[in-house]
Amino acid sequence: MEQQNSNNSLISEIEELRYQLEEARDTINAIRTGQVDALVVKDDNGHQLYTLKTADQTYRVFIEKMSEGAVTINREGIILYCNTRFAHMAATPLEKTIGQPLSFFVPDASKSKLEKIINSSWNQDCREEIMLKDGGGRDMHCLFSCNTIELDGGLALSIIITDLTVLKNTEQELQVRNYQLEEAQAATEKLNNNLEATVRQRTHDLVISREHFRLLTNNIVQMTWTNLPTGEFTSYNQRWYDYTGLTLDDDHEIVWEMVVHPDDLKKTLELYNKSLLTGELFEIENRYKRYDGVYRWHLNRSKPLKNDAGDIIFWVGTATDIEDQKQEMERKDEFIGIASHELKTPLTSLKGYLQLIAGYKKEELPPIVRQYVTKASTSINRLQSLINDLLDVSKIKAGRLEYALGSVNISDLLNQCIENARHINPAYIFDSKLDNDYIIKGNHERLEQVLMNLINNAVKYSPVNKTVIITSQQVGNYVRVEVIDSGIGLSPDQKDKIFDRFYRVADKLNMTSGLGMGLYISKEIINNHDGIIGVESEMGQGSTFYFELPLGR
Ligand code: ADP
Repeated sequence: MEQQNSNNSLISEIEELRYQLEEARDTINAIRTGQVDALVVKDDNGHQLYTLKTADQTYRVFIEKMSEGAVTINREGIILYCNTRFAHMAATPLEKTIGQPLSFFVPDASKSKLEKIINSSWNQDCREEIMLKDGGGRDMHCLFSCNTIELDGGLALSIIITDLTVLKNTEQELQVRNYQLEEAQAATEKLNNNLEATVRQRTHDLVISREHFRLLTNNIVQMTWTNLPTGEFTSYNQRWYDYTGLTLDDDHEIVWEMVVHPDDLKKTLELYNKSLLTGELFEIENRYKRYDGVYRWHLNRSKPLKNDAGDIIFWVGTATDIEDQKQEMERKDEFIGIASHELKTPLTSLKGYLQLIAGYKKEELPPIVRQYVTKASTSINRLQSLINDLLDVSKIKAGRLEYALGSVNISDLLNQCIENARHINPAYIFDSKLDNDYIIKGNHERLEQVLMNLINNAVKYSPVNKTVIITSQQVGNYVRVEVIDSGIGLSPDQKDKIFDRFYRVADKLNMTSGLGMGLYISKEIINNHDGIIGVESEMGQGSTFYFELPLGR
């Protein structure tokens, strides 16, 4: 029975509370929508009536729509009114916020700060950052702006609460960005410092290198200079001034004219201007006038310095004094000329006596003596050919390699030489491909000398593959003769030098005998015939020596 009574009283209490809740909801709604402009609040002092002085519907609607929370509290800190936004911020149903102390919605850590602000706001408007519980376990940064308002029931405090979360996030992001910026700035500064240090170091290196270059150029025995791509001279080393006796004040625009021997000037200027146009190495031997008027031979070389794009920045030239070498070479040439001339006479008589012995008829010569005579004749022929070559070289140097010109049938010449070669080198095969009878103007003996030299070389430098091919054909207005072997071949570097006087490929010195004169004399003879001589070859791939002579001269 007792149980029945308590159930009934609980049910009626629930009913009563439901009714009160309903009533509270209606009241709040009425306030929000502006239908009511006063309300009664029960506190420790009993019931109090609060009239919303500004209970103007427009303003209340406006406040409802605000994106800030709006709260009105009384002296005890009880919420008299709040907008939906505040309820949303506090994550509490609207009906449960009104009548609650504001501090209820503030985390414990911020409660005393809130109290302080509220206390002072009754005297003076104030704004302060305070945390608000958002119900989700996270607190949010808010700005509380407090102002007193006069209500009918007495003074109340209106608080506008602005959510600072976005601002705080932005602030935080800004802080991160700031930090990153500072780091980037520090890195830039470091980079800058490094760069400055590098520039300082490079400048220092440059000065050292320039001084190094200056010291070097001023101390070498060669004369050196630099000039622009247009040809103007920009600097000379000390040796230049010492040798020429010129000074800085002299007009260096006409420098070649001032110092180069008049006989060498034209050729020097021609080659110099050609190099400036083509960018190719400038190289010439010429005579430079010394300060005392004496001319000395010099070897000039000038090379261009190019940038990455391949444009010439400037030229660096040197002139090396070769007067002593020249004189020595001349003495050597003179000696060779005299010696070969002196050797020629006894050799001729030796050859004559041998011929007399070979042709001796009065008594029968013992076979062994005949054999000796034949061998001696072969050796004497080789000796004579060597001495003739030496004589030719000294004649070439003296500009006296002269001979009579007549008509030469190239096919006849080739056939004769091939026969000769077959006779001397029975172990070799000589193939010929002669496509016509070409008649040129020249000296038969001298051209034979050239051809025999090329054939003998083809034999000498083809120890394994023993086939030599000789061809003739017309190329433009020239007849071209080729001597093709499958021998040891030549490197590009060797190809450039083999036509020089006394040049022999270094690593082949012991392979065969020779003095390095044959190709030098051949070149001279072909040049004198207004022809050209050359070689196509690769190391280990055999060689094709050729010469071309003008037809119909
Ligand atoms: P020599 O044969 O007396 O040394 P040359 O003036 O005839 O002098 O030749 C100069 C050099 O050129 C030779 O020493 C040799 O090294 C090289 N040479 C000439 N002909 C050939 C060839 N057919 N194959 C390879 N090297 C050659």
